[in-house]
Amino acid sequence: MTLDTLNRPLKDLRISVTDRCNLRCVYCMPKEIFGPDYKFLGRDHLLSFDEIVRISSSFAALGGTKLRLTGGEPLLRAGLPTLIERLNELEGIEDIALTTNGLLLPRFAKALYAAGLKRVNVSLDSLDDARFGAINGMGVGVQGVLDGMKAAAEAGLQVKINMVVKKSSNEQDIVPMARYFKDTDYILRFIEFMDVGSTNGWDFSQVISREQIVQMIHSEMPLEPIEAHYEGEVAARYRYKGTNREMGIVSSITQTFCSNCSRARLSADGSFYTCLFASGGFDLRALLRSGISDEDLTAKLGQIWSKREDRYSDLRREDSDSKSGNTKPKIEMSYIGG
Ligand code: SAM
Ligand code: SF4
Ligand code: SF4
Repeated sequence: MTLDTLNRPLKDLRISVTDRCNLRCVYCMPKEIFGPDYKFLGRDHLLSFDEIVRISSSFAALGGTKLRLTGGEPLLRAGLPTLIERLNELEGIEDIALTTNGLLLPRFAKALYAAGLKRVNVSLDSLDDARFGAINGMGVGVQGVLDGMKAAAEAGLQVKINMVVKKSSNEQDIVPMARYFKDTDYILRFIEFMDVGSTNGWDFSQVISREQIVQMIHSEMPLEPIEAHYEGEVAARYRYKGTNREMGIVSSITQTFCSNCSRARLSADGSFYTCLFASGGFDLRALLRSGISDEDLTAKLGQIWSKREDRYSDLRREDSDSKSGNTKPKIEMSYIGG
């Protein structure tokens, strides 16, 4: 097992398979910036499936067990089921998940399941068409996402829902979303709006805290906290009292969890990052394309991880002056992979 300077093992790798997306969510890829003239990565700049598999294999050799495919919108990457099938064959990989906006799931869910995918997280921020359409920047309605969830569940995938909560945007949707998903097989997870990237205009006053979310739901549907499934689980879990139904909250702003963070990220063009809030990564694509051996690649990844000191969210929380976010340039979420 490879440990960093704070004794945290490398367990999870989030792989962004494309920086492109069919939505323009205001908190992620605001359309004013990611407009028609925006230059996305060209084909040659993207890691090939062979390259992703090699890096994942080195990650597994260092003790990594969990992979998550993300983006941008990962289902825009042609042939994704083939990649999943190959990753699933790697020794040491125990779990592969996918984060998606769900719109393409009706087309791909069966093939994803057949390739060995077990779980999907589908992002949905409101059940109200007008509000959801404004948040996703494209006027796309809710039904397409609900159809995507249904297709995933029918194909045999476990489905979780991600809802990013932003003040004055969708706070009125917190309780309706909880009410709606409480009676489905899908587990809802609220995510505090984060200061990731440099384009989404984040500031602390737009964050609705985990405590506030719990209070809003608890007054209508009483909640009780439940134990984490495993050490390092990012979502705090709550059960609706008197039921076996649960929901979770990822409180990256108000109750940070860097001390358990075992996640690394691989951008679509092959940079390796040891924190979501990093301002720089390590260019693995250049190494791969210069002919590095598998052994040397594994050694390099281990070396990078063993020097890791990141605890950005803890530092933000400890430093009350940084409530307006960190002004240092950071990598965009769609590029580094959410
Ligand atoms: N396109 C896919 C999707 O939306 O699920 C995958 C990529 S997206 C970047 C991954 C997750 O990050 C989504 O659940 C999204 O809502 C979340 N996300 C993006 N920007 C965020 C922000 N500023 N704060 C919190 N979560 C964010
Ligand atoms: Fe696209 Fe996902 Fe970002 Fe929305 S959150 S713009 S769906 S990558
Ligand atoms: Fe991990 Fe960085 Fe997030 Fe802390 S801020 S939990 S180190 S990704």
